[in-house]
Amino acid sequence: MKCVFCKGSLVKKMVEEEVKAGNDHILAEVEAEVCVNCHERYFPQGTIDYLQKLKKELKNKKEQFKPVGQVFRAA
Ligand SMILES: [Zn+2]
Repeated sequence: MKCVFCKGSLVKKMVEEEVKAGNDHILAEVEAEVCVNCHERYFPQGTIDYLQKLKKELKNKKEQFKPVGQVFRAA
């Protein structure tokens, strides 16, 4: 498989993907194929399902996740 944007090669690696639900963000370590040229990420279907599940869980029961920082807004 090649990158659909730049035709670069893809390498499989673990990436930190950010999932957002409203003002809450969650970081998930997932496997992706990453373009060596433009760094576009391609996720396998299983990972997409997992990220969607995390998003739902973040909305509903965020107390099960360990906070690692806070998000601030500059007024
Ligand atoms: Zn690319």
